[in-house]
Amino acid sequence: MKAARLHEYGKSLSLDEVPLPEPGPGQVLVKVAGAGFCHSDLHVIDGELSLPLPLPLTLGHENAGYVAATGKGVCSVKEGDPVVVFGGWGCGVCGPCASGHEQLCDEPQWAGLSRWNGGYAEDLLVPDERYLVKLSKIDPRRAAPLADAALTPYRAIKKALPYLEPDYKVLLIGLGGLGQYGLKLLRILCGCDVIAVDINQEKLKLALKEGAAHALSGRDPKLVDRLLDLTGGKGVCAAFDFVGSDQTLAAAVASTRAMGKVTQIGLAGGTARLKVLAESRFEVCFEATLWGTLKELREVVALAESGRLGLEETEFAPLDRINEVCERLKRGGVTGRLVVTP
Ligand SMILES: [Zn+2]
Ligand SMILES: [Zn+2]
Repeated sequence: MKAARLHEYGKSLSLDEVPLPEPGPGQVLVKVAGAGFCHSDLHVIDGELSLPLPLPLTLGHENAGYVAATGKGVCSVKEGDPVVVFGGWGCGVCGPCASGHEQLCDEPQWAGLSRWNGGYAEDLLVPDERYLVKLSKIDPRRAAPLADAALTPYRAIKKALPYLEPDYKVLLIGLGGLGQYGLKLLRILCGCDVIAVDINQEKLKLALKEGAAHALSGRDPKLVDRLLDLTGGKGVCAAFDFVGSDQTLAAAVASTRAMGKVTQIGLAGGTARLKVLAESRFEVCFEATLWGTLKELREVVALAESGRLGLEETEFAPLDRINEVCERLKRGGVTGRLVVTP
């Protein structure tokens, strides 16, 4: 089968012919229909994340497709079933795994980000049937981004629900693939008005169309003043930063009210400073959330299957054009999610 593999950090992926994996006991082989190209893959390819990855490796942690073959003992899925693949694979026995937070496993074995290959290939070997969430109506090619672009903001918002009081506004910074799902999910999960911030005017227009109450340019040097004006000086009850740079984190912290919450989702390498009596209010809670649990993925898929969570605009590209996809994402020339279709 064909697989787009990373051989060396800083270099393009190469399209290799590799042996078709055979599912062992409990494992499932999935014919990949769609593999969402994630911004974090860019950081991996460029060697910016200090993950000790065994190269060559097939990346791709946002996958969906059809069951192609099942190993001995697999009983919950059969050949041909359309599925979304949960990618936060763990050891299954450590503390986080035992409490259902496998994506935070002490020894993560994430799809395409560990010794396990990911979905930028014709087929994907899934180590356990429990990682598959069955689809009924949605096309797996369009469902792939649910496994990360929708799941990650879903967890971030769910964990902030106690802070989301309807008398206050919510701040959402960064309207990329994840941020756009973040906006949709905020509209479903809470009654707060959303203030969307991005440096791209087209994305701000889209945010207003998608129900944001306000849209502000991230390039505005007076951004924090504008945010405080919009909230009557009180600040927002929660801020979700899908960028994660020094600048965006500072704006999020400075505009969050006392007893509010700042959640960092984006990994642009910034540092959040909570300096009370100067840059932040008292009792502001900060959390950097990661991905989501299997249970949360099932909830996201159910929301999408019910039609309440609309799928984002998706663009498709064949596997042999994956390096072009990579370049386009780097330039920021993608509005929705780019999905590779092996
Ligand atoms: Zn990702
Ligand atoms: Zn574990």
